[in-house]
Amino acid sequence: MYLFSWSLIVKSILFADIPEGGLAVTLPDDSWLPKSLQAPGMVPEVSFLLQRQAKGVLLTGRMDLVLNLQCDRCLDTYQKRIIGEFSVNLVVGVPEPISKEHGDYICKSDDLDTMFLDSAQVDLLDMAQQQLYLQLPVKKICEDRCPGLCQCGEKVGSEACICEKIIDSPFAALASIVAAKKD
Ligand SMILES: [Zn+2]
Ligand SMILES: [Zn+2]
Repeated sequence: MYLFSWSLIVKSILFADIPEGGLAVTLPDDSWLPKSLQAPGMVPEVSFLLQRQAKGVLLTGRMDLVLNLQCDRCLDTYQKRIIGEFSVNLVVGVPEPISKEHGDYICKSDDLDTMFLDSAQVDLLDMAQQQLYLQLPVKKICEDRCPGLCQCGEKVGSEACICEKIIDSPFAALASIVAAKKD
C-alpha cells in the first residue's frame, strides 16, 4: 500500500493518481469540520483507503471524533463521540434510469452505495463532511432523561428556570398553614 503525503494533495485526488495497490489517506486536521460541530481540544481522526476498480474507485474509510451537538429537547450543547465506517463506490457518470415495475420504482441494490461524480476525481474533505452527516444521530438528545425546555424557555430544573420554585411556593405556603393549624 502506498501512503500519500498530505502536503502533496491540493484538494482533490485524481483517480489516475491512485496507485495499483491503493492509496491510504489520513486527514491531518479538522479544517473540513463545520465550526459549530467542533469540540474544543478534540482532533477528529478520519482515514480513507482508495482502490481503483474496473468501474471507478472504491472508497472505504473510518472516522472517530467527538462532536459538539445541540440537544433537540433542551437546546443545550453536549458532546458525543461518533465512530463510523463507510464504503462508497465512486463512479463517473450519471445513474442508469430506474426501472419501473408494477408502478413501483425499483432501485438496483448495487446502486445504493454508489456515488456518481462529474469527473474522475474525489474531494476527500467533501467526502468526510458527507459521511459525517450520514453518521449523525437523527434525534440528538443530551441524555435519555433530558427534561426538555420549560415554558419559560430555560431547561426544566436548571438554575435559570425558577418556574418550579414559583409553582412550589403555594404548596409550601399551604403546608405551613396546615402545620400552623395543627399546633
Ligand atoms: Zn437535553
Ligand atoms: Zn421555567
